[in-house]
Amino acid sequence: MSEAAVMDLKKIIRSIPDYPKTGIIFRDISTLIAHGPGFRQAVRQLAAPFLDQKIDKVVGIEARGFIFGGAVADLLGVGFVPIRKQGKLPGEVVGQDYELEYGTDRIELHKDAIQPGERVLLLDDLIATGGTASAGVDLVNHVGGEIIAAAFVIDLPDLRGADLLREKDVQVHTLVA
Ligand code: AMP
Repeated sequence: MSEAAVMDLKKIIRSIPDYPKTGIIFRDISTLIAHGPGFRQAVRQLAAPFLDQKIDKVVGIEARGFIFGGAVADLLGVGFVPIRKQGKLPGEVVGQDYELEYGTDRIELHKDAIQPGERVLLLDDLIATGGTASAGVDLVNHVGGEIIAAAFVIDLPDLRGADLLREKDVQVHTLVA
């Protein structure tokens, strides 16, 4: 990124009002990942603080966390591990329920995907209330991984999700608010 101008990533993230329901402004990263230089900058900025952090695994949360997580894992030269919605992983899993605005949901992680003591970077596209990422942190801890940090392209600070993670002693790295 030394020669290319630094882009304002906010300008290439599309906002769609009232999706998936009235009152929600959906922050659509499909316009960012379709933009070659923008996607490249986002991936490099997500990975930058962790280049010398001896990360062993990048864990990405379904589905948009796969896109950024896979690319960041490649840049760090480490493996990628998916956290998926319930019933999607074929091997033996651990699961964690988390709160949605209405009701609960469940995410799962393969039990053998992370070895005890491995240093893990958690990735997703966006942190809102932090419920999803917090459940992801719990899953990684459950199998004995050590969460080094959680990284997101977008933070919605009014919803205080990043604060929730910091209260759990998780370092949080975000690119745009
Ligand atoms: P939360 O568990 O409340 O932090 O929500 C984070 C998850 O929901 C992420 O996987 C996001 O992709 C998705 N999400 C929540 N709010 C939005 C939003 N306004 N725009 C796009 N995605 C969102």
